Amino acid sequence: MSSVPFTVPSLAGEVSDAVVKVLDSGWITTGPQTSQFEQEFADYLGAAHVVAVASCTSGLELSLRALGLPPGSAVLTPSLTFCGAINAILHAGHRPVLVDVEEDTLVPGAGTVAAAAGRVDAAAMVVQNQGGYPVDVAALADAAGLDRTRVVEDAAHGPGAARDGAPVGSASFAACFSFYATKNMPIGEGGAVASSDREFADRVRAMRLHGMSKDSWRRYLPGGSWRYDVRAVGLKANMTDVQAAIGRAQLAALPGWQRRRAEIVAAYDAALAGLPGLTLPQRDLAGITHAWHLYQVRVPDRDAVSAELEEAGVATSVHFIPAHRMTAYREILGAEECASVPVTERIAGELLSLPLYPGLTADQVDRVVSALTGALRSRG
Ligand SMILES: *Cc1c(COP(=O)(O)O)cnc(C)c1O
Repeated sequence: MSSVPFTVPSLAGEVSDAVVKVLDSGWITTGPQTSQFEQEFADYLGAAHVVAVASCTSGLELSLRALGLPPGSAVLTPSLTFCGAINAILHAGHRPVLVDVEEDTLVPGAGTVAAAAGRVDAAAMVVQNQGGYPVDVAALADAAGLDRTRVVEDAAHGPGAARDGAPVGSASFAACFSFYATKNMPIGEGGAVASSDREFADRVRAMRLHGMSKDSWRRYLPGGSWRYDVRAVGLKANMTDVQAAIGRAQLAALPGWQRRRAEIVAAYDAALAGLPGLTLPQRDLAGITHAWHLYQVRVPDRDAVSAELEEAGVATSVHFIPAHRMTAYREILGAEECASVPVTERIAGELLSLPLYPGLTADQVDRVVSALTGALRSRG
């Protein structure tokens, strides 16, 4: 039986040649390709500075460390997020404080942020563009009583998203992107931090490679020397030129992939409207360009529906199992903190992500639709 995988990475035709060129060049770690990729991704976003890193997770940790907050600071974060984002807060030495989401957008709103900020003296906040929905960073910063320089954006789902014409990351103090295999612009592994602030970007740049004042590429350049200093304790989280060359080829293909994602979303919308028990992704998108990383619906009896789809050859996923339901975080956060996100708790068992990627064919979309229709009608 032919099946519909949950995700298949899109790869531009130019990727293979680009990789071979780097391998032949004699320089395979962070170097000229990485600099070029940073410039091209900055141009794509309309951002002043971009620092390429090993992953979005390391970008989040580097950004939080580069803020220089006192150890143990309270950092607001949605519970409905990926574990890497929670780990980044903990590894940076801080305390995650959970923020509930709004039922329609699946991201924190001004109300839930203000409620969480009212419980603690928050030093910073991580916001997340769930599924590709660009959050209103300025409004959330206001609600938290935080300056924009204390907001770190988890923009793993952000490439292609914009609010009032401004791409996610274009005016951010710190926006962290992911090029993981499943994301809209896959490299396999990789990430980037975009910032409007040169000094902040320079701190992240030094800290992505141990905190060294000069990376080895710059030390090998004509007139370079073996001398360097370590001015801050960094991570080993640089991007290699092999990754960057893949990223440059992928970036050129991204706009076409984004258009295909929007077409698939329109097809799902039209075919799934009105099914019994089904809640479609929210449609109040005035002024918003959605990146459509995920097509997240809500269904009753989610675990059984997901199993039925699997049986019909349609793979699905869940974004996310909330942090407050994970063993390690429950131990760290405690029962009271974990009980502070009732909307997340209520909808966590209903969320279901359908296959959505540029390579998904019209025929596969039909298979997803008929499998989901069957599963819901038999319950309806
Ligand atoms: C994928 C993802 C990350 C982690 O990205 P990596 O590049 O794999 O570190 C962080 N946050 C969210 C919301 C994600 O979906």
